[in-house]
Amino acid sequence: MKTVLAALLSLFCLMAPLANAEPSTGSIDVHWDPGSADCQGHPPRPLQVHRYDERTYILRESLCQTYEGPFIYLLIGSSKALLIDSGDVADASKAPLAATVIALLPQVNGARMPLEVVHTHSHLDHRAGDVQFAGLPQVTVVGADLPHVIQTFGFRHWPDDVAQVDLGDRVVDVIPTPGHTPSHVSYYDRSTGLVFSGDFFLPGRLIIDDVDADRASARRLLDFLGNRPVSYILGGHIELDRHGQPEPMGSNFHPDERPLPLDMADLRKLPAMLAGFNGIYGQSGEYVMYSQARMLQLMAAAALLLLAIITLTLVWWLRHRRRRRADPALATSLPT
Ligand SMILES: [Zn+2]
Ligand SMILES: [Zn+2]
Repeated sequence: MKTVLAALLSLFCLMAPLANAEPSTGSIDVHWDPGSADCQGHPPRPLQVHRYDERTYILRESLCQTYEGPFIYLLIGSSKALLIDSGDVADASKAPLAATVIALLPQVNGARMPLEVVHTHSHLDHRAGDVQFAGLPQVTVVGADLPHVIQTFGFRHWPDDVAQVDLGDRVVDVIPTPGHTPSHVSYYDRSTGLVFSGDFFLPGRLIIDDVDADRASARRLLDFLGNRPVSYILGGHIELDRHGQPEPMGSNFHPDERPLPLDMADLRKLPAMLAGFNGIYGQSGEYVMYSQARMLQLMAAAALLLLAIITLTLVWWLRHRRRRRADPALATSLPT
């Protein structure tokens, strides 16, 4: 009997970590508001909130408030809550993000749970809402620039190490994924198996301003996720329709938007896609990849070239006219 009990105990000890490793399930069954073809006449709600599970919320700012339609994620632990990104709308009267998030926070020891506002990266459409949280009690807003990211999360070998945020019974890993911007990070929530990939990896346009860093980030994230359970990979925007076509740039209306989640099979394709990217513009399947910085440089170079051609043509024409006036014989022989 003792032997059987010992065997059962050993089996339990072996199974326990596996049971812990199994992520909790949640609902991703949500139809996101499509925005509107007439934002003035028929505006949708400014902020949509989806409850993934009792401790996880996905929020999205209306496409009428901002064509970016950014996604914002709220993770609640037992001692602290984490808000990943704060969206594109600073004005609380247009999108009351802070009030909405604060209302979702539970009480801890008779007080509202502390909240930490962090970001996937420093682009304004992911942090414009920070101002709504400024000065609120029990709320910390972390800067999105690289020094703040390194210091706050405690990276010691950026971008080669992984940091953790402990929310109390809920640990979130912070994985450096620079390339879209220098301080971009992705988050892995161990309790749900959700990955929050910001603009590094999303269903849409992949803007890559540092190709080498982005390629390394893809390998790093894949290495990290390795055999870890991944439920869904959730990015910062949806920019594709159900047929895989990019939504028009700047559109406030996505009537046929594809679902938000990506999965590991999608992520595993990323290194090959990035290997084939020429650093300026490229397309692989549904994904459009481009470097905003390089394209701006090319446009500036093209504008300078055009200016040079116009100037040279003008100089030639003025000289030609002067010569023609100075020499009447030339004036009669040359075409006008
Ligand atoms: Zn971005
Ligand atoms: Zn963005």
